[in-house]
Amino acid sequence: MPVPIRPCIAAVPDYKAGKPPAPGPDGLGFKLSSNENPYPPLPSVLRAAQQAAEGMNRYPDAGNAALTQAVAERFGVKAEQLAFGTGSVAVLYHLLQALCAPGDEVVYAWRSFEAYPIAVQLVDARPVGVPLTADGRHDLAAMRAAITERTRVVLVCTPNNPTGPTVGHDELVAFLDDVPDDVLVIVDEAYVEFVTDPAAARGLDASGLLDGSRDNVAVLRTFSKAYGLAGFRVGFCLAPEPVAAAARATALPFGVSSVASAAAVASLAAEAELFDRVHALVAERTILLAGLRDRGLDVPDAQGNFVWLPSGARTSAWAEEFATAGLAIRPFAPGDGTDGIRISVGEPEANRRVLAVAERLARA
Ligand SMILES: *Cc1c(COP(=O)(O)O)cnc(C)c1O
Repeated sequence: MPVPIRPCIAAVPDYKAGKPPAPGPDGLGFKLSSNENPYPPLPSVLRAAQQAAEGMNRYPDAGNAALTQAVAERFGVKAEQLAFGTGSVAVLYHLLQALCAPGDEVVYAWRSFEAYPIAVQLVDARPVGVPLTADGRHDLAAMRAAITERTRVVLVCTPNNPTGPTVGHDELVAFLDDVPDDVLVIVDEAYVEFVTDPAAARGLDASGLLDGSRDNVAVLRTFSKAYGLAGFRVGFCLAPEPVAAAARATALPFGVSSVASAAAVASLAAEAELFDRVHALVAERTILLAGLRDRGLDVPDAQGNFVWLPSGARTSAWAEEFATAGLAIRPFAPGDGTDGIRISVGEPEANRRVLAVAERLARA
């Protein structure tokens, strides 16, 4: 007899990671499929990681003390309000493990981050996906209406991966005022450093974490995107103390490696340099978005380091065209009305190439 696997685990869909590029006609390929930062590590960050690697025979410092202190100072929160993990996806797993029992419900917008339904099913909770609006935004009224007695967690992804728009500050505050106190709202801000819309929500401002005015909001942040540490896996949550304590309790011991931790601390020290790069990527995003729209493509607002083509039934055919041009992009084609293509903002040369392909597609 086969070893019985829990049904909720057996039913978990595979996470489809972004593919590497196949070279285009000129031999060049670009990876625009995982919203990674195209810049190589800063020398100061690389040095810190190399130095930390010299102590790899030792466990990391217990409780990520140095990283915790650096992040607490950076955001003006207490150490007790922080919990770390191997990427913010891990912190999401820790939070759901701490909060959800089998049959509980987790509400999120859909389409949104692919990791959400997986994370929810792993704890045998019920994923409740609430359709986005036609322009790729969260429908917070519908999400509020989807909250039931069984709802333990609501996920708000802003900017939304993969569609791009943010949730507005005012609408988020109104939503948080309206959500029952015993439901945790997790604001996933993986791309917040790329946001330029002044009306966009800032999770920390809306959360009440700084003045203690709310006890049911957590903010997820990551070093993977703007800070360019995707390969090192460091993320964290800012949360009310009991929630952060629960996320630490459910975390793997010593999950964040000493090397990753050192790189994250060095990245905070090098924020000015890193944010120059973020600004350059935002400038590229602006060119890409305008270029796609100029070619007649109906692209929603883009506030992260990626753009969304609502390609519908043409998704697979268009994905082929990008692949042939040496561009790895991320198609989503379940055929359920949420189909589209997400394209990360990459090197300027890669972005020009995206526009050249788009030119052909829009004319076809
Ligand atoms: C990339 C991403 C994350 C961060 O993932 P890590 O595990 O920190 O690398 C979190 N949420 C969303 C929506 C993302 O796109």
